[in-house]
Amino acid sequence: MDWLWDTAERWLHFARVDLTRYVIFAVGVWLVLWVALRVPMRGRKIRDASPPARQMILEFLFSLRTIALFSTVGFCLFAAEQAGFLPGPALAASWGWPWFAISLVLMIVVHDAYFYWTHRLIHHPRLFRRVHLRHHRSNNPSPFTAYSFDFSEALVNVSFVPIWMVLVPTDWPVTGFFMLHQIARNTLQHSGYEIMPARRDGRPMFDWLTSVTHHDLHHAEAGWNYGLWFTWWDRLMGTEHPDYHARFAAAVRKRLDAPPAAASIAKIASLLLLGAALTGGIPRAAEAQTRPDIAGRWATQGFGSIVEFSPCAGAEATMCGRILWLWAPTDSAGRPRTDSHNPDRALRSRGLVGVEIVRGLRQTAPGVWSDGALYNPDDGRTYAGSISLKEGSLELKGCAMGVFCQTQTWRRTADVVAAAGVAQ
Ligand SMILES: [Zn+2]
Ligand SMILES: [Zn+2]
Repeated sequence: MDWLWDTAERWLHFARVDLTRYVIFAVGVWLVLWVALRVPMRGRKIRDASPPARQMILEFLFSLRTIALFSTVGFCLFAAEQAGFLPGPALAASWGWPWFAISLVLMIVVHDAYFYWTHRLIHHPRLFRRVHLRHHRSNNPSPFTAYSFDFSEALVNVSFVPIWMVLVPTDWPVTGFFMLHQIARNTLQHSGYEIMPARRDGRPMFDWLTSVTHHDLHHAEAGWNYGLWFTWWDRLMGTEHPDYHARFAAAVRKRLDAPPAAASIAKIASLLLLGAALTGGIPRAAEAQTRPDIAGRWATQGFGSIVEFSPCAGAEATMCGRILWLWAPTDSAGRPRTDSHNPDRALRSRGLVGVEIVRGLRQTAPGVWSDGALYNPDDGRTYAGSISLKEGSLELKGCAMGVFCQTQTWRRTADVVAAAGVAQ
C-alpha cells in the first residue's frame, strides 16, 4: 500500500503548487485592482458593471477542476521522467543558461500559436457549446475566470505542456516560469482593468502584446481577438476586432489619434484623389477603397426602399440595416404597409418602416461582410446573408439552406439620385 500512499502524496504536491499559484494570482489581482486600487484605477476600468459574486464563486469552483487536471498532467510528466521516458529536462539542464532563456521564449511564442489555433477551433459552432461555453458564460470576466473552463477545454489547454516537453528538451524551472507568466497574464487579462500604458496617440505602448481590453473584447463579442499573449496572429488572420484600438483608447480615457505614418499616407492618398476628382472624376473602385464602410443609406434594387446601415445595437462590430423609406408606403387599399408575412403573428401589424431587415453582418475581408441574416418582408423568411462592396455598389446574397441563393444589387442613394439627374 506504500506505493499508493506515495503516489497520492506526490499528486497532492502538484495540486498544492497549482492551487497556490492560482489562488495567489487570482485573489492577488482581485485584492489589488478591485479592492486596494479601486479608486485610483477607476479611470482604467473597461466596463461600468462588475460581475456578480455568484459568477466569481462558480468560476472558482470550475477552476478547481482545471487545477486537478493540471496537477494530474504534471504528476504524470514527472513520473515519466522518473521512469526514464522523458529525457528532455536532464538534457536541457546540461545545455546551460542560454538554452534556458531561448527555450522559455520559444515555449511562450509557440504556445501563443497553439492557443490561437485551438481557440479558433473550439469556437466552431459544432464544438463551442460542448468545449468552450463555460469560459464564455463569463461575458464580463473577473480574475477568477482565468481557469474557468469546461473539462474538455482544460484538457486542450493543458495538453500543450506535455506535447512541448516531449518534443523539445525543456528544464523544469523553464516550465515553472512558463506557468508563472501564464497565470500572471491570464488573471490580469480577465481583471477588467486596462493596465497597459498608452502612447500619446491613444494606442497600447506595446501593441504587439495583447492588452486587457484585447481579451475583454473577446469575452464581450466572441468572434474576434483569439490571441492570448501576442497580437500578431489576429492581425495576420484578420481576426482582430475592428474597434480594438478605439476600445483601448476608451479604456485608458484617451483620444485615439491616427498614427503619424498612417496619417501622412492618408493625406497623400486624399490629395491624389482630390487631384483625380478635379481632372475628370474619381474612378469608382478608388472611391470604394476610400470608403470601404457600408454605413449609410442604400437604395434597394428597383428603388423600392431605402435601407440605412449602421452598427448593430449592442454589438458595435457588426452591421445592421433597417428600412428608412418606402417608395410605396401604402397598399392598394391605401393602408400603411405592414410586416404582414412575418412568421411571428405579433409582429404582423408593425409598420415596415424601421424594420431591421439586415442583421449581424461581420466584416470578414476588405469589402466583404458575412455571417449575417437577411429578412425578406415579401415572404417573411430570413436568409443567411452576405454583402460585398463592388465598385461602389452593394451585392447582397441571401441563401436558404446554403443552396437556394438570390442576389441583389443596391446603390448609394446619392448615386441613384445623381444618375437620375443625368437621365433627366
Ligand atoms: Zn478568457
Ligand atoms: Zn473564446
